[in-house]
Amino acid sequence: MEDERSGLLSPTDIRALAAELHKRPTKTLGQNFVHDAGTVRRIVREAGVQPDDSVLEIGPGLGSLTLALLETGAAVSAVEIDPVLAGALPATIAAHMPEAGDRFAVQLMDAMDVSGPESLATPSSSQKTTLEPDILVANLPYNVAVPILLTLLERLPGLKRALVMVQAEVADRLAAGPGSRIYGVPSLKAAWYADVTRGSKVARTVFWPVPNVDSALVSFVRRPLRTSTPRETVFAVIDAAFAQRRKTLRAALSTWAGSGAQAEAILRAANVSPQARGEQLTIEDFIAIADAGRNFTAS
Ligand code: SAM
Repeated sequence: MEDERSGLLSPTDIRALAAELHKRPTKTLGQNFVHDAGTVRRIVREAGVQPDDSVLEIGPGLGSLTLALLETGAAVSAVEIDPVLAGALPATIAAHMPEAGDRFAVQLMDAMDVSGPESLATPSSSQKTTLEPDILVANLPYNVAVPILLTLLERLPGLKRALVMVQAEVADRLAAGPGSRIYGVPSLKAAWYADVTRGSKVARTVFWPVPNVDSALVSFVRRPLRTSTPRETVFAVIDAAFAQRRKTLRAALSTWAGSGAQAEAILRAANVSPQARGEQLTIEDFIAIADAGRNFTAS
């Protein structure tokens, strides 16, 4: 079989590994393992991973995607919350792709606790003591995919690109543009960091166990920040605007601004109609509102 020749994990390998580790996949940790070599190769191809890339993988699980990433020649630093899975990974790499062992390292940690590149494990092949990942590639645990993604984009400024697999609905939300019904807080916060594009769909059948939601890829290309206004200030405006999604911005931002009249003045200064709703605005509009708000507070 192709999987056996290539060093990637086949469905039989996945079952055998899980049995050996007495691992029953848990829903709370979003443990749905990919058992299809074609899918993990497609993810790596869509991510455009190159041999000189330093890849961050969140939730390597049993190692399906990890092996496909290592197959490119790239270095991989992985973060896994499950001690049984994290502990077993080095042996899986050694058994299936021994030549890649020194390009791989895993850290037992909650991805939400990544504080910077120094908190990640560094493969022994690296010339540096700290490996700064330039690309994130992951099949994310679905219930915490958005917070993990936003946290990593914030704390790892060296990440230039990301390609992640998430619930299809979440991929749609992340990549949605203004005016769309599903455009909201995740779309805008992701747009603060990057240009976001919806990637291809992934069939449920490539997972074990089979999830009860559809999956899709979504890609991020970081772009430079266009403002000196702090992220927290802009995100506070976004959160306020969408906390009362159906209301006009004048009403939704009145508490944030201090009063309805003050919200209206700030919106007019930012060139945004007070009658508009948050779902009609771009990230640049929100930056303009936050900027105008700062000027009002300062004056
Ligand atoms: N990458 C593997 C694959 O494609 O087969 C597994 C993906 S599975 C959808 C998600 C993985 O993320 C699991 O291995 C799970 O234990 C891990 N995980 C869940 N929550 C996590 C967290 N907060 N930080 C790090 N890893 C987490």
